[in-house]
Amino acid sequence: MRVNTKIFKSANLIRLFVFALLFLAPSLSLNAGESQALAQNKVYVVMSNTAHVYHSNRDCKGLQNATHKIKQVTVEEAKKMGRRPCKICYGH
Ligand SMILES: [Zn+2]
Repeated sequence: MRVNTKIFKSANLIRLFVFALLFLAPSLSLNAGESQALAQNKVYVVMSNTAHVYHSNRDCKGLQNATHKIKQVTVEEAKKMGRRPCKICYGH
């Protein structure tokens, strides 16, 4: 009986460990992915004086109506151009 209790306890510990891993691992990789996305992700800007945003999605509604040339740049470049994230692509 004592052995059974031990097994039960270690199984609980492993479950706790797996649970902690499941909880921690995605948030860690998300942070890494986020900074990577900021560094090298490509975004789309409309080469117009009246455009002030950049888009993550090439099929964005904001790009479909564009009459000017659409250029693919990095997020950093878009920010240097004074662009803000598009509300349609990036939510609110
Ligand atoms: Zn957009």
